[in-house]
Amino acid sequence: MFYFCILPSYSFNCMELTTLTIDAARSAVQECKTTATTLAEAFYSKIEKDDPKIGAFLTLSKERALAKAVEIDARVAKGEKLPPLGGVPVGIKDVMVTRGVRTTAGSKILGNYIPPYDCTAVARMEAAGAVVLGKLNCDEFAMGSSTENSAWHPVHNPRDLSRVPGGSSGGSAAAVAADMAVVTLGSDTGGSIRQPASFCGVVGLMPTYGRVSRYGLIAFASSLDHIGPLAKTVRDAAIVLRTIAGRDPMDSTSADVPVPDYVAELQKPVRGVKIGVAKEYLGEGLDSQVRKAVEAAIQKLASLGCEIVEISLAHTKYAIPTYYIVATAEASSNLARYDGVRYGYRASNARTLSEMYRRSRDHGFGAEVKRRIMLGTYALSAGYYDAYYLKAQKVRTLLTRDFEEAFKKVDAIVTPTSPTAAFKLGEKVDDPLAMYLADIYTVTADLAGIPGISVPCGETKEKLPIGLQILGKHFDEATILRLAHGYEQAA
Ligand code: GLN
Repeated sequence: MFYFCILPSYSFNCMELTTLTIDAARSAVQECKTTATTLAEAFYSKIEKDDPKIGAFLTLSKERALAKAVEIDARVAKGEKLPPLGGVPVGIKDVMVTRGVRTTAGSKILGNYIPPYDCTAVARMEAAGAVVLGKLNCDEFAMGSSTENSAWHPVHNPRDLSRVPGGSSGGSAAAVAADMAVVTLGSDTGGSIRQPASFCGVVGLMPTYGRVSRYGLIAFASSLDHIGPLAKTVRDAAIVLRTIAGRDPMDSTSADVPVPDYVAELQKPVRGVKIGVAKEYLGEGLDSQVRKAVEAAIQKLASLGCEIVEISLAHTKYAIPTYYIVATAEASSNLARYDGVRYGYRASNARTLSEMYRRSRDHGFGAEVKRRIMLGTYALSAGYYDAYYLKAQKVRTLLTRDFEEAFKKVDAIVTPTSPTAAFKLGEKVDDPLAMYLADIYTVTADLAGIPGISVPCGETKEKLPIGLQILGKHFDEATILRLAHGYEQAA
């Protein structure tokens, strides 16, 4: 088959270009309805116009993007068939390193850091033809639920600028919701892909732990960190997962498990799939409008032929304290490397080495990061290790067993993604505990290492998006993608 373009016919206007899904954007380039260069430029115009009020991007990588676009256009001109992301403009959360492009993790301590290598997930996106527009704002070191902990500036929710986009991948969710990227990559340690996806009305997928290489992901809590896509549709999320998943020799925790064709799997019917509904996820603290939307979504899945089964995940109430001990303990260890010697910011005018360490960390880290380092150091300290860290690891096993038991009876579990819709900027910023409690429905999957997806399932009276979370068995992203796709098509 040949793909020669005789006469390019530019049949899109700029506004339409930025609303395209992956397949539509790729085909438009392949069929010469536009060029990869025009497409990238349309996105940059959109970013220039709208991002000043949203704040999703921290750094634009125009040179790199346009070089890639030119390469894609040349391939089209030669009659080549484009790879799955050929010419598709994407954004990357600023916790994934990009060679030659500033990467800050939302922190002043990495304010001037230019990485010498590429994160595997980013490299795989580019190898599949993606055009990387730039780096997306996030909570500092991915610690937060609102993106207000970014050292640079907060992100505003495109659906209501007075509200947060969720966090910590708030920039990644907002960029997709505001048509400033076709898809983006985010990271999820306790909910940071799924919760912002639900707040901004987009799809967010956290794969199984080990499914996607963490090489080049700036570490927050290594046993909990995952990379995954935020997208306009479930199909787009499936395309991205198929691109970035699979064993990577550079990350020994990446799993050598075959990667199915997630896109082909979407075609399978949802009829007969057994779905668990756990009372622990529909209890106290759940906003009544969110509850109504989730219950309606469960009914919708039942009407599509899914079997609804009541299950119990009895240890759910311990998930938040467990997560905040494990995550802070690992963070305190991971963040020890930022000492002013090897990376980023170094305080000037220190008289001794230890003063240089202390001042660099004092000036470089923000309040939330310092809070987590202190909590984690305490939980790991001699005398408290058994009482906190070891105990938390034991409870983590109990939480995992809850899921293992449940998955003997069901194929997937459906819950709300977040107890509320997007809250106001400033509403919880001075109350870290209230912020932590917002993660109640998401941290469990990270602790157990199972995959989860958030798909839009309605709106509140104030027109704020609500997210439905679907959790699956280890390495069974195919089933949750299929259910989310079936729901999305029927809704
Ligand atoms: N909100 C959670 C936290 O603050 C989760 C963050 C994340 O998933 N990166 O730790």
